[in-house]
Amino acid sequence: MFPHYLDAMLDQKPHPAPPRIGIISLGCPKALVDSERIITKLRAEGYDLASSYDGADVVIVNTCGFLDSAKAESLDVIGEAMQENGRVIVTGCMGGDENAIRAIHPNVLSVSGPHQYEAVVNAVHEASPPPHDPFIDLVPEAGLHLTPRHYAYLKISEGCHNRCSFCIIPQLRGDLVSRAANDVMYEAERLARAGVKELLVISQDTSAYGLDLKYAESTWNGKPVAARMLDLCENLATLDMWIRLHYVYPYPHVDGVIPLMAEGKILPYLDIPFQHASPDILKAMKRPAHGEKTLDRINQWRSDCPDLTLRSTFIVGFPGETDDDVELLLDWLDAAQLDRVGCFKYEAVAGAPANELANPVDEDEKTDRWERVMELQREISERKLATKVGQTMDVIIDELDSEGALGRTRGDAPDVDGSVFLDGDFDVEPGDIVQVTITESDDFDLWAKRIS
Ligand code: SF4
Repeated sequence: MFPHYLDAMLDQKPHPAPPRIGIISLGCPKALVDSERIITKLRAEGYDLASSYDGADVVIVNTCGFLDSAKAESLDVIGEAMQENGRVIVTGCMGGDENAIRAIHPNVLSVSGPHQYEAVVNAVHEASPPPHDPFIDLVPEAGLHLTPRHYAYLKISEGCHNRCSFCIIPQLRGDLVSRAANDVMYEAERLARAGVKELLVISQDTSAYGLDLKYAESTWNGKPVAARMLDLCENLATLDMWIRLHYVYPYPHVDGVIPLMAEGKILPYLDIPFQHASPDILKAMKRPAHGEKTLDRINQWRSDCPDLTLRSTFIVGFPGETDDDVELLLDWLDAAQLDRVGCFKYEAVAGAPANELANPVDEDEKTDRWERVMELQREISERKLATKVGQTMDVIIDELDSEGALGRTRGDAPDVDGSVFLDGDFDVEPGDIVQVTITESDDFDLWAKRIS
């Protein structure tokens, strides 16, 4: 063995013992399988299993609620666990009736119903945080990411409850399934600890977050957090990172997050996939919130938060789209003066209901419409960026190349929006947030000099 290796080995602190979890599984084989899943997950995270009350840091009781006698037995076992250990998490069939359990055992740490593995595992994390040993773990605490170290995507739900006619996501991924708010918050916290400076909140429809959970509360660091977009934004804002919202639909409750943006708590940035402006096309697309008066809303948002950056995507050449629809879209874009716009030519996706619609648009016509939208938006973007010359703003550094550093303003998401070039500046690192003065602009990008 190399001497330095030996020194390094001797220098290492002894690993703390992992937390030990006791589990009592009552009821039928289905409940037993639920218990097995829970302990498999906890064991994979590094927890040890305890075979007695006094050796356990926390005890899970997986209850049965099938018959009155089974309920009575469940309550007795919870009572015994409280008496012998005192840190008890209740789950399973009887957990569906939290009031009945808390009426007799008010101090149990958490109550969840059957199959709510994630809630049980979260409750264990809360009661006894998962072990993490950077010397032996193959996976860092914040998980593995394909993004640079300073930003990360935070997915808050799976699936979608909308039924846009051009889309097959709900067929592929099912209806909306939101993550519990505390699960999202614990992940965000781990990412912050791992050095992430910017979180990009994503889902298929971010404004619908929590709808399927009826906005249920869960416990994060001892405080209740609701699965609702506004609450989530408020809680994420406490983590001292840039928080950027993607895929937000213009429902009225979105107005509630604008003050958080105006106060600087989350980034003044909304990515809203409007997809079109013609009411007829939006209706044929079956877009969520297609009846909203979006121009009025945009004007109000901008008056409440003048720094707001709006990004959107549009589809041209949807079946049945007429010249009038395209004129309407162009007029709308001219009035809305969105900061960033992506535009796609409609493509039929196998299985999408829109394929059945009459009057498909010819490919050349689609290209012509796409070019008109892109040219208008290029002009808008060029004009808007020119007004930023001379302004001072924060920039997050993404990378350095042979010409210097490049980064993004608060109004630019990675990969899809523009860049800020700090030519000749090599004295920064990815993830640094620096102050710059904007010196130049073109159609989509900015150039700047650092002032701090
Ligand atoms: S396009 Fe519509 S249906 Fe498809 S994921 Fe987005 S909101 Fe859901």
